[in-house]
Amino acid sequence: MSTDNGSHLDQGRIIASIVDERELAVLEREHLLACPECSAARSRLAARLEGMGRDAKRHTPPFRKRIVLPEERPAWPLAWVTQWSMGVAAAVATVLIVAAVLLKMWFTAGFGDIQGMELAREAEHDRALLAEVRALEENPLPAAYQEMVPEPELALDDDFFEYIIPLDGDGGQNRTI
Ligand SMILES: [Zn+2]
Repeated sequence: MSTDNGSHLDQGRIIASIVDERELAVLEREHLLACPECSAARSRLAARLEGMGRDAKRHTPPFRKRIVLPEERPAWPLAWVTQWSMGVAAAVATVLIVAAVLLKMWFTAGFGDIQGMELAREAEHDRALLAEVRALEENPLPAAYQEMVPEPELALDDDFFEYIIPLDGDGGQNRTI
């Protein structure tokens, strides 16, 4: 920057002269008027700025649509009835929703207990079944026939055969095996 008549104004002072000439000192203003170089620079800058302004204007979409506030509708005589019934409907809907939620919670809790009992019963049943299977693995014959089967270590002696075929009161003399 310079205020002295001998040197030109720098870019900042040129811009300042365009924005507001009063920002320039008296000597700067005098120089600008007198110096063809500085006034040419100022003109160039002003022209560029003007061009940019024109471009900006050209690229801004036109503001065609007028913004109008919607007209206030004339009061409908039964409007309050509608509003009132809407309010009642909203209240009823709220009550129904709350009731549905409460019922669901209640039923879920109730069925939860029932389901728990059912599960316990099933588990008990499974346990019994498993015990039965184990018993069958050990001894596949029904209880009624188990007594008839000799123990593996049992000797096939007379007692055994007498057990299988009981002798009559005469000592089995009249029977044939
Ligand atoms: Zn100059």
